Amino acid sequence: MMNENFPLIFERSQEGRMGYSLPELDVPEVEIELEEPYVRKNDADLPEVSELQIMRHYTALSTRNHGVDSGFYPLGSCTMKYNPKINEDVARMTGLSHIHPLQDPDSVQGALELMYDLQTSLEAITGMNTVTLQPAAGAHGEWTGLMMIRAFHETNGDYHRTKVIVPDSAHGTNPASATVAGFEAVTVKSNEQGLVDLDDLRRVVDENTAALMLTNPNTLGLFEEHILEMAEIVHGAGGKLYYDGANLNAILGYARPGDMGFDVVHLNLHKTFTGPHGGGGPGSGPVGVTSELAPYLPKPLLKKQHDRFVFEHDRPQSIGRVKPYFGNFGINVRAYTYIRTMGPEGLRQVSEYAVLNANYMMRELQKDFDLPFTQHCKHEFVLSGKRQKKLGVRTLDIAKRLLDFGYHPPTIYFPINVEEAMMVEPTETEAKETLDEFIAVMRQISKEVKENPEVVQEAPHTTIVSRLDETTAARKPVLTYKKE
Ligand SMILES: *Cc1c(COP(=O)(O)O)cnc(C)c1O
Repeated sequence: MMNENFPLIFERSQEGRMGYSLPELDVPEVEIELEEPYVRKNDADLPEVSELQIMRHYTALSTRNHGVDSGFYPLGSCTMKYNPKINEDVARMTGLSHIHPLQDPDSVQGALELMYDLQTSLEAITGMNTVTLQPAAGAHGEWTGLMMIRAFHETNGDYHRTKVIVPDSAHGTNPASATVAGFEAVTVKSNEQGLVDLDDLRRVVDENTAALMLTNPNTLGLFEEHILEMAEIVHGAGGKLYYDGANLNAILGYARPGDMGFDVVHLNLHKTFTGPHGGGGPGSGPVGVTSELAPYLPKPLLKKQHDRFVFEHDRPQSIGRVKPYFGNFGINVRAYTYIRTMGPEGLRQVSEYAVLNANYMMRELQKDFDLPFTQHCKHEFVLSGKRQKKLGVRTLDIAKRLLDFGYHPPTIYFPINVEEAMMVEPTETEAKETLDEFIAVMRQISKEVKENPEVVQEAPHTTIVSRLDETTAARKPVLTYKKE
């Protein structure tokens, strides 16, 4: 629904108005006979506007977008931290941006060295034996890792290992990736503390278990405290342990999946390692494995041989290529720049501040909103809007009201095991003042819910459009310009 206070004039076309002028023709005019299907029968339906109008149109649209460079963005599980601009400078260096993946490796040794160093850094950060940079997203990394686990079991003749165990608190991509990789996803329940229920795990693990996929910290922002016991249960039954490390922001320099006994881990470089994300742009989901699973890594694998960097193609047990060329190189350059500018001590501090910021906000917001799991959190926490719902205001309304104050709302209605969930992830890059301003706004909204609920129920009041019909937008999207 359009917001009456802010009429959006989108259609500015006037017949005959032009935004360009072509130079005079300085070659002889020729007649070309085009074949039938290529001949346009009607003029293209394009807007006719001046250069200034088109400039203002796109500039206005660009300011209506919300990004981490324009405001606080506590979208839980997405790690919307600041992306340092030095990453962009490095990614634009011509030696990195003007090369081609089909070039002779001898002519791009610098770029290969960068990729190799990034692989090595990620191996050190995760405690894994070998890392591939090929997967293009977190979910893609999950699938890649699971295909390796599948290849491993099949090599051993264990074709009956068809079940992948996924906690009910896992990220939604986990059961989806397990299914796409040809497994059956089996749920293991969480206990009252929001952690994997070990008794239920013992119940579901058997000789048909291929792997347990663990999101850690889990989607409640809680560290799974009994990982060593879980490792024992799953490994004891011949299964493998998969670590969803998309949100590594809480454990950098403090804990490593490799040391906990995991066989496979994927990372989201577009979250923890400051690749820009949102809007579906290119991501990067590297996967690290133990030496036991290394033969199955996607090929080609980048290797170092006597100070030269080479792609090893001859890998008979490899699951094959999972991406054309070698991954999303530009995102990998940004992650490499980030790791090198932060250094090991800087990365440790990232996790310290990410966890401190989340706990500070959680304890403040706990005064006005229900907190279902009260122990200390890691990089994020989950509130419940249950109390506000009793007064007729839903979590969705609260999220919409936040837009009026210039904030991107938290993730809502996820995880599904919390009623009216609000998942808040402040990240380490926000100043205390920003956290305090957001806390004050949340407190004001909680007051409005009690005293003046309509203002929340009818929000947003300051945006160009108010409530959107999201179903129609998803089912019948209008993606191209059409003259009214
Ligand atoms: C974001 C996320 C993913 C999926 O990553 P994509 O790059 O969006 O595919 C998987 N697991 C967790 C825990 C995540 O937060």
